[in-house]
Amino acid sequence: MSNSSKRKRPSNHRSIVWKFYVYPTDGSSYVPCPKYPDTILTFNGSTTTNILYHLQSQHEDSYARLRGESIAESAGSSGNT
Ligand SMILES: [Zn+2]
Repeated sequence: MSNSSKRKRPSNHRSIVWKFYVYPTDGSSYVPCPKYPDTILTFNGSTTTNILYHLQSQHEDSYARLRGESIAESAGSSGNT
């Protein structure tokens, strides 16, 4: 495996929701919720509003944590803590 330093690639699925859900690599637009198996989330291209809303309302804790991580990343993390 060639796992060189992490580089940012301009993908259209860099939304925060993909830190929690698994981006469907088969080209589908359906994302099952791991916590509520009956819930199938859909997204449209890079528009993840539906999923984001669900994440915010149903997984508040996870969302808050991921959001914190996301902010730390974009702020140019220079270390842990
Ligand atoms: Zn969910």
